[in-house]
Amino acid sequence: MPKYVSTRRDFLRTVGVGLAASVLPGSLRAAQAAKKRPNILYMMSDDHAAHAISAYRSRLAKVAPTPNIDRLAKEGILFENCFCTNSICVPSRATILTGQHSQTNGALDLGGRLEPERQYLPKLMKQAGYETAMIGKWHLKQEPAFDYYCVLPGQGSYFNPILRESGGQWPKNEIRFARYDSRHSSDVIADLSLKWLKGRDRSKPFFLMHHFKAPHDNFENAERYDWLFNDVDIPEPESLWKSGNHGSEATKGMGTSIGKRNKRRNMGHHMFVEESLGERQYKRQAYQRYLKKYLRCVRGVDDNIGRLFDYLEKSGQMDNTVIMYTSDQGMMLGEHDFIDKRWMYEESMRMPFLVRYPGIIKAGTRTDEIINNTDFAPTILALAGIEDPDYMQGRSFVPLLRGRTPDDWPKSTYYRYWMHMAHHDNPAHFGVRTKQYKLIFFYGQNYKKRGPKPTQPGWELYDMKDDPHEMNNLYGKPQYAGVVKELKAELLRLRSKFNETDEKYPHIQKVIDEYWNK
Ligand code: CA
Repeated sequence: MPKYVSTRRDFLRTVGVGLAASVLPGSLRAAQAAKKRPNILYMMSDDHAAHAISAYRSRLAKVAPTPNIDRLAKEGILFENCFCTNSICVPSRATILTGQHSQTNGALDLGGRLEPERQYLPKLMKQAGYETAMIGKWHLKQEPAFDYYCVLPGQGSYFNPILRESGGQWPKNEIRFARYDSRHSSDVIADLSLKWLKGRDRSKPFFLMHHFKAPHDNFENAERYDWLFNDVDIPEPESLWKSGNHGSEATKGMGTSIGKRNKRRNMGHHMFVEESLGERQYKRQAYQRYLKKYLRCVRGVDDNIGRLFDYLEKSGQMDNTVIMYTSDQGMMLGEHDFIDKRWMYEESMRMPFLVRYPGIIKAGTRTDEIINNTDFAPTILALAGIEDPDYMQGRSFVPLLRGRTPDDWPKSTYYRYWMHMAHHDNPAHFGVRTKQYKLIFFYGQNYKKRGPKPTQPGWELYDMKDDPHEMNNLYGKPQYAGVVKELKAELLRLRSKFNETDEKYPHIQKVIDEYWNK
């Protein structure tokens, strides 16, 4: 990847901000330079899988349309192959703010945190003359480094959420709504963003990160959606009925199930399905209840996005605002009888990513070029006219927005999930995804060398063009030996390039060495 050799000083030069001997002229120049640049509205929800957005044309598209999010695809661009590099909340958010893979930014798992000085994206946007705000789900524990913030502590509550607002002493700066005002978090977060947008200084462009809590579990919807989908039969994924056949020895029997397969962790129990039902009926009911609860939360997200669009339109800012929609990762919605994220399987690893900005994007564009969440920060910076610093590992995909694929655009993406057997019985793993193939190695070890016991290691290979639902593990089939060899070489290259080797974890490296050629 050719990287601009740029430093903080270079970007200051780019946007015409002097290094502050004369503060006033410098800030005036910054304000002038910033004036011509677009606003950036970055909207993200929590665990909203691409296949639960109708523009992605999945089995759910007809029963659960998302017209407002779809509008971004219709009037902008939709990325078919946007991937998370570590499919779980905190690490993905840390990657988005730093442009770095997990080992570089240090947020490997849910315990990760990001100190204000390492929140590069808002800091650089602020220095470049943008008015910055972070509203909604934050999850990075330390105080957000934005001009304004109003964020949920941790996961936050679905109803009547407490938030922490800038201006006070973190983390004691809590604001509460009146107890009788039982409002849903998606409505509250949209209200807060609208309030900030209406009250802000219009002489500067804005950079707003608007983060819904929904549709993270345990799904709770606003009352007005209580009856939604009541008479609807949610289509099932084919792989729901292939439980116990998860590709390799490494994944057999793993993962929280919808039905009774995983006795310790199954969703039917939490969906209050009658335990005496037979497996088939039990699973079918659990699936319907689970999906309906999830999709009601999705509807609340989509409706509130419509409210933000209305405001941008009425205030004449729709077309000079780059509008992005994504989720911190995907989500298994019954595929392979799994729920939750964490897996490198497609529904979990894939992130929705849609952008509307008529200034440079042709309406109705769809692209299958590969991008990942390390690329978001460099892209946002590029849209603001700033070169990304060389400590970011991603790359700006502004050329893709313009409809042009650079010759040296990456043809693969790296993945690593660290939390071995935590919460949902997912073994730790890493792998590589190209447009056609996905190779996964489950190394079966806890990186911390304590906690859950090691599990059986194993490889899985899928042909994503012939087998998009990952039903047939091709690893070990002689005709794929050449493909496997190439993918392993690519995997090594990416691990080394992105500081994702296991030098610090010899017990994992030992398993890798032992199984690399098995
Ligand atoms: Ca999440």
